[in-house]
Amino acid sequence: MNKTVPDSRGYFGEYGGKFVPETLVNVLHELEDAFERFQKSDDAHEELSALLKNYAGRPTPLYFAKRFSEKIGVRVYLKREDLLHTGAHKLNNTLGQILLAKFMNKKRIIAETGAGQHGVATATVCALMGLECVVYMGEVDIERQATNVKRMKLLGATVIPVVSGSRTLKDAVNAALRDWVKSCQNTHYILGSVTGPHPFPRIVREFQKVIGEETIGQFKEAEGGLPDAVFACVGGGSNAAGMFYPFSSTDVPLYGVEAGGRSHKPGDHCETLTQGSPGIFQGARSYLIQDEFGQVLPVHSVSAGLDYPSVGPEHSYWKDANRVTYVSCNDEEALAACHTLTRYEGILPALESSHAVGYLIEHAADFAGKTVIVNLSGRGDKDLGIILGEVKL
Ligand SMILES: *Cc1c(COP(=O)(O)O)cnc(C)c1O
Repeated sequence: MNKTVPDSRGYFGEYGGKFVPETLVNVLHELEDAFERFQKSDDAHEELSALLKNYAGRPTPLYFAKRFSEKIGVRVYLKREDLLHTGAHKLNNTLGQILLAKFMNKKRIIAETGAGQHGVATATVCALMGLECVVYMGEVDIERQATNVKRMKLLGATVIPVVSGSRTLKDAVNAALRDWVKSCQNTHYILGSVTGPHPFPRIVREFQKVIGEETIGQFKEAEGGLPDAVFACVGGGSNAAGMFYPFSSTDVPLYGVEAGGRSHKPGDHCETLTQGSPGIFQGARSYLIQDEFGQVLPVHSVSAGLDYPSVGPEHSYWKDANRVTYVSCNDEEALAACHTLTRYEGILPALESSHAVGYLIEHAADFAGKTVIVNLSGRGDKDLGIILGEVKL
């Protein structure tokens, strides 16, 4: 697999690019330049490494889940991103991008958020650096992720409810992009996944690839060699890209698990890669859920973090190249997996991560006796209301 993507125009094969209003073209160029310089700066690297270690808690453990493994008949290691500060992998990216924003002398930060984890991770790094923070969040998500809204406010961020469209993640991205068109002189947009126009998919992957790099070393130490398969959930695709990218030049089978929505509602699907088709959305060409006229269709998932009708362009590239297998897990299977992992390991996974666990449980027979890794992208405290049936969707 070619690891040198994206090319200089921001394309992963046929996917990616930069489909934005004229006003953003320059600021994206500026960002690309700054990122190149940032990547070459020893000082920047040292600062980021120190923060990842001492502030965020890296490396996160690679944990052998013994009781869960015995239960399903597959030897399962969990990459514990749930133990990262703020409870999900999102902080790897926001720490990198806040340093990049400082590098560019930007004084104000904006972000979009779905489940609120990226909003919390952004508000956290803004508090850490003393920068102004504005987070756009769909009204529906504000209701189902109330705890994270409180956390963001406590951290000093302004949370702006988005009332247009389906009032979820995609609408929050639109609102953030509209803000950025007006404010880009002094504002950096910390995009939360490997999505959006070039250079975001590359920047976010570079800041998240620490997950896979650590995992390869940790697995080698624990077992020797490489695992038989690796699983990660896919919303926009950042935790999966961070895990998969370092594995992409090996021949380890990789599984990206998308949200299948409610089993009794066949119209639900966030299965962008298994059900969608290529089109242009929010700045990039990628697979998306659209109708015959190219209009994006409403999607549904029990987990707000997976409730997104498109996916990062690198995943589209991996799909067409058959390097990653994209599959799905529905709401009910994810909820059941969440209960199982909690009872067998004392680890309460985020509903997003529960999709990866749920797929493995449902297909355990295919991996019987094998040794696999699941990226546990985050912890489930934020989802308690939904898991316990107290919050209606
Ligand atoms: C945001 C989030 C996701 C989905 O985003 P990706 O970019 O696909 O990783 C998955 N898991 C958790 C815990 C999240 O917070």
